[in-house]
Amino acid sequence: MIIVMRKGATEAQVNDIVERVRAAGFGVHLSQGEERTIIGAIGGDRAVLADLNLEAAPGVERVTPISKPYKLASRDFHPEDTLIRIGGTTVGGNDFWVVAGPCSVEGRELLLEAARLVRDGGAHALRAGAFKPRTSPYSFQGLGEEGLKYLAEARAVTGLPVVTEVMDTRDVELVAEYADVLQIGTRNMQNFSLLREVGRANRPVLLKRGMSATIEEWLMAAEYVMSEGNHQVILCERGVRTFETATRNTLDLSAVVVAKSLTHLPVVVDPSHGVGRRDFVVALARAAAAAGADGILVEVHPRPDEAKSDAAQTIGPAAFHQMMHDVAAILQVLGRRLPAAAAVHV
Ligand code: PEP
Ligand code: MN
Repeated sequence: MIIVMRKGATEAQVNDIVERVRAAGFGVHLSQGEERTIIGAIGGDRAVLADLNLEAAPGVERVTPISKPYKLASRDFHPEDTLIRIGGTTVGGNDFWVVAGPCSVEGRELLLEAARLVRDGGAHALRAGAFKPRTSPYSFQGLGEEGLKYLAEARAVTGLPVVTEVMDTRDVELVAEYADVLQIGTRNMQNFSLLREVGRANRPVLLKRGMSATIEEWLMAAEYVMSEGNHQVILCERGVRTFETATRNTLDLSAVVVAKSLTHLPVVVDPSHGVGRRDFVVALARAAAAAGADGILVEVHPRPDEAKSDAAQTIGPAAFHQMMHDVAAILQVLGRRLPAAAAVHV
């Protein structure tokens, strides 16, 4: 249930409702908007809440059930867009967030070279996996903690915050020590223990959509993270499995507009995994910006043919620069901004 307070309801009135809702056995989440406060009553017995007759309490405008199975992630509970600060950029508002870098951390020099390349090209954050979820156990699995150290060095050198995947509950603490954003991969979108664990970490979470997940399942995964207290969740559409074989996945841009209508959380797009082919990545990045995504996560490598993972979908410097140019032009038409990277030049 949500209890929507009137405009101008006092703090004492809000506190009174919060106490009564808690005493009735509900968990309480407050959403303090610019105009009004919304109190989310989570769990508990609805009948008990109904008996409290909160509609009649001073300061209350209305009490309504949240019909969606996700509550904290729902726009009903939090009508305004959630803004998440990452490094010098605000994700989820008018500014468009660009995260770029190689699929995996391949080594120190390569990562530093890639970090400088994407920083100079205008990216706001660096991506690269130290722990890689590979379909084959014989493929390159990532450098693990050594890779995390290189990521931290790349951040120190370029000023770019770092987005990297965590695959295992046992690694969350370790990855959170190095990363600015914890990425949950498509294959782990319904790894509920992992979702709960990152929900207890003090880092924003980038939650990839499961490759066969519905939008509702994706939002329920976000709800798992949020229900542990971490409300800093960024959703990432990365393509879904369909009958199509011409592309690696089918990038579902309709999911961006649908998800943004259902949730206040930022929604970004990964055109690289979304299409799986280098020659189509720039066009889909443009389409993501046009569709109203809050940003893109894109695989970029100084020499993409040499990439140790996902080479076929990784773009090189020229395509990256073209992409940034095109995306900026589209954002301008839409009255949005591609902020200058807040990077430190070293
Ligand atoms: C990645 O970003 O490199 C990755 C493994 O993504 P996904 O989980 O979407 O396949
Ligand atoms: Mn990849």
